[in-house]
Amino acid sequence: MSERRVISVTQNVEFLTDHIPEPGEVFEIVPGIQWIRMPLPFQLNHINLWLIEEEDGWALIDCGINDERTKDLWRGILGQVLNGKPLTKIICTHAHPDHIGLAGWLHAEYGAELVISREEWTFGRMVSTGGLKDVEAYNKYFLQIGCAEEDLEDYCAHIMTADKLYCDVPHRYRRLREDRTVTIGGKSWQVIVGLGHAMEHVCLYCAESNILIAGDQVLPKITPTILVHANEPNANPLLDFLESNEKLRHLPEDVTVLPSHNQPFTGLHTRLDYYITHHEERLETVLAACDEALNGLEVAGALFPQDLDIYGKFFATGEAMSHIRYLEYEGKLKRSNDADGIERYQRI
Ligand SMILES: [Zn+2]
Repeated sequence: MSERRVISVTQNVEFLTDHIPEPGEVFEIVPGIQWIRMPLPFQLNHINLWLIEEEDGWALIDCGINDERTKDLWRGILGQVLNGKPLTKIICTHAHPDHIGLAGWLHAEYGAELVISREEWTFGRMVSTGGLKDVEAYNKYFLQIGCAEEDLEDYCAHIMTADKLYCDVPHRYRRLREDRTVTIGGKSWQVIVGLGHAMEHVCLYCAESNILIAGDQVLPKITPTILVHANEPNANPLLDFLESNEKLRHLPEDVTVLPSHNQPFTGLHTRLDYYITHHEERLETVLAACDEALNGLEVAGALFPQDLDIYGKFFATGEAMSHIRYLEYEGKLKRSNDADGIERYQRI
């Protein structure tokens, strides 16, 4: 990856404010954009959502996970603070459950239209209605990367119960398209599609306000998860991620970034540089570990030596596989398919 620019190796970014909204609080972070923070029942315990006032209603960017606590918070917000205007649009950056989980409920209760990219709608509709629950396919994949048979049920539980984190994603939607613009709150926002973390993740950039709604593509404190999944085991999402991030380099250095996790910040380019360095280091770790032939689970152990619960292991194996695939496509690792059905990888 030597052709990519690396200016500095730092996670330093500047936050806009120290204030963090309480669940249910509506806080104006920049003129015309309200910041809402909803709780999540995970280690990553919150998501940021954005409300933008329009002439005839409100546009919401991302909506929180499907649980009673979040619905109650929404009832409070939508009943009190929208100046009597309806919620008209739910714009989802991507179809992970913390972003789109409640879209079906908000659509049904308040009549708001779902606005999303086509691949994210397809994925969200499929997962929310149980279409990804193929336990045999997942078992085969996890065996291939070296998981023990007795652990398969635990590994698959994450996927087999994922639909509960969603209300059914609405059948009808309006499409967001790469490089097109969409009007929100009377201003023009450019659609910039990011890959790697999700399939067709939408970032929204408003040149007039110099604001980027970044979703999960760029985060100030943590690195977006880049996972290989069982349904596309030969995917190269890390290459997708690093390549598509280059589109964001064309935005101004001082753009205000509204991320889905942690606080709004400036320092977009610093984060893009950090992601390159971070993944280069991980790729080096994988290559060094693969001096001897290792399976995916063993590579995950080299990348994440700390004790992980099963949820952590699910993500660790997905991350390990994304780095393995990147190195395979670069011609630096070779794959062998052993008699035991397990794939192993060794440095060339
Ligand atoms: Zn996500």
